[in-house]
Amino acid sequence: MRQNTIRDRLDRGNLRWRQRQDENAAQRLRTAREGQAPYAIVVACSDSRVIPEQIFDAGLGELFVIRVAGNVLDRHQLGSIEYAAAHLHCRLILMLGHTGCGAVGAALHGGGEGFIQYITDEILLAVGRERDPLKACEKNVLHGVALLKREFAEHPEIPSEDLEIRGAVYDIETGAVRWLEEEFGVRNLKK
Ligand SMILES: [Zn+2]
Repeated sequence: MRQNTIRDRLDRGNLRWRQRQDENAAQRLRTAREGQAPYAIVVACSDSRVIPEQIFDAGLGELFVIRVAGNVLDRHQLGSIEYAAAHLHCRLILMLGHTGCGAVGAALHGGGEGFIQYITDEILLAVGRERDPLKACEKNVLHGVALLKREFAEHPEIPSEDLEIRGAVYDIETGAVRWLEEEFGVRNLKK
């Protein structure tokens, strides 16, 4: 598709969205005036099939979402999470992996090049010698869960007893979200 055609498509989409008189329109005005109070933080992959707001049927102002290929964590992501937990008072952080993840697949096939390598290196650190794509995806999620638990264990503004950090895998075919056992993840990481 040519660039101006793509831009037209984006513009038409935005116009349709602005003109729609639905729940989101009311929510847009309300949250613009009163501010946001999202109930959960979701760290998900940038994959265009993994849209947390749609997966959890959430509207504007309901989820604080961080999306990065392979749902990996670095300081920018941690800063975003810290902001939402400390200042917006979100009390649940969900690391959300997904089936058929290209970033996990790239890591399992030797890693990427260029900037992609930053992502695949982080995934390889999480998955170790695991070569099964689904198990590798779970390990990557649980690695993130363990990292968040470590980073936010003692925070002056985030009460750790109130903070729930969970992992889950979204199935891109069925649309189902499967929660992972936290204990399994922590044990795995200590090995
Ligand atoms: Zn992915």
